Amino acid sequence: MQKMEKIENNVATTLTPLLGMTLAQLQEVVKNLGMPRFTATQLAEWLYTHRASDFEEMNNISKNNRRKLASLYTVGRYAPMHEQRSIDGTVKYLFATSDGKAVESVYIPDGDRATLCISSQKGCRMGCTFCMTGRQGFHGNLTPAEIINQIMSIPETETLTNVVFMGMGEPMDNADAVLQVIDVLTAKWGLAWSPKRITVSSIGKMPELRRLLDETSVHIAISVHSPYHTEREQLMPVERAFAVTDVMKLLSNYDFAHQRRLSVEYIMWEGLNDDAMHADALAKLLRHVDSRVNLIRFHAIPGSSLRTSNEANMVAFRDRLNSQGIICTIRRSRGEDIFAACGMLAGKVKDKNQNQ
Ligand code: SF4
Repeated sequence: MQKMEKIENNVATTLTPLLGMTLAQLQEVVKNLGMPRFTATQLAEWLYTHRASDFEEMNNISKNNRRKLASLYTVGRYAPMHEQRSIDGTVKYLFATSDGKAVESVYIPDGDRATLCISSQKGCRMGCTFCMTGRQGFHGNLTPAEIINQIMSIPETETLTNVVFMGMGEPMDNADAVLQVIDVLTAKWGLAWSPKRITVSSIGKMPELRRLLDETSVHIAISVHSPYHTEREQLMPVERAFAVTDVMKLLSNYDFAHQRRLSVEYIMWEGLNDDAMHADALAKLLRHVDSRVNLIRFHAIPGSSLRTSNEANMVAFRDRLNSQGIICTIRRSRGEDIFAACGMLAGKVKDKNQNQ
């Protein structure tokens, strides 16, 4: 089990968080402490149904057992240390991690939907050239507790309708933790969410992606950005290890027409991947998978010569895909003024007027 340093009343404590544990793991905890097995079910209820943030709230567990638990464990809930609000209603939250780093989550209200975009790693080692998170380098994986805390400790937690693993990091580079969090989110003893409320985005790290496809029924988003091998590997080094054509072959074995959905993410850059030839090649790449394409404006990052496509090119690209039977939409940007839009997360407090 991973230890977590938690700041409680400004005092750092190194205790193991219970948040993020599965029922089986909680059963192991209570067994090791000599407590009855049903205490694990009570703990799961307090953690995930009643959303307790302190052992003192758990009043159907004896005082003695609560004391024992508190000597070795912490609940694991902690509030974000900073927030920034966009003019469009998007809110970016900054969460401290156990080793003094920080990660970001983005709350995106949209009509009757409220989506939280969460991080799975501190930075990222995938090295995509257009991504602010990739520029930060890799500083470690988040624990299941640190991932699920983002969902359960924002002020809007009770109103969330959806969660997307599209924040900092490549979720399939931290697959064990991400799969555990999905288990907690969807299990009856956990938050009991439908998997349809969850989307995991990946650049196509194939062995772990296969696990995600086999072990869950959450929605999948795959970042493609170019249908051509040489061009894509310059943008996304992962292409060298896992070619997008092989990723599509893998995905073609799964059903995305009924219970789960496959989205293809495609950032559009002026003069790079936004012409008719790319649209046709993308349509060809996707011919054996049921998917819908999201076209994404590029949000400029410092030191990058890449520029976003103009509206006319994006519309023409969308229409060309639509005319070939592929559902394609242009995604509305959210939170750009607070550096919360796609590819802009850096795990740092930034001023709205700051430009780097
Ligand atoms: S785009 Fe995703 S996988 Fe690539 S560097 Fe950024 S966070 Fe990592």
